[in-house]
Amino acid sequence: MLDLISHCRALRGTLKPTAEATVATECACCGLPGASIRVGDDLLCMICVPAFALDTPDIDTMAGVIWMPQMDQGVLSRLVCAAHAALRPQNTAEVQERARNALDSLADLRSASRRRVGTYQPSVLRETALTVPAHSLIKRRDRLSGLRILVLDAWFQTEARDFAALLTLRGNA
Ligand SMILES: [Zn+2]
Repeated sequence: MLDLISHCRALRGTLKPTAEATVATECACCGLPGASIRVGDDLLCMICVPAFALDTPDIDTMAGVIWMPQMDQGVLSRLVCAAHAALRPQNTAEVQERARNALDSLADLRSASRRRVGTYQPSVLRETALTVPAHSLIKRRDRLSGLRILVLDAWFQTEARDFAALLTLRGNA
């Protein structure tokens, strides 16, 4: 399971995506097929990539930090994937509206992140976590942070073709 604070402490420049060809592989984060991108040791689907590829230059426009301790990153990714699939024009206006409301509610959780850690920008969290002395994190032991990465609409717009291909692969097209 992804602990965002620990993940943010990876060496600078190491959290960048590289394409792989093994799309039938299950994603290391959400567990669904379609893992085609590697970030460090993890083979991921295109929906989970922004949560891991925090050194992507425009990460703050593609993703936001939210406070959601009740749901791990993989479950959140499945939810976001389903909501964006529901937004497609072949669905009814009612289905699209429910999906939009769900995504807006998730986006609102950025304010809870800002209250708790002072930011909802992944790049700021990444830089801050790198500067926290290791001894300050000892009390956390193995506890997971309630911080998650929410992939924003901009990512789905930029990667629209890959998203359509992923849905076809997963039988949701
Ligand atoms: Zn995934």
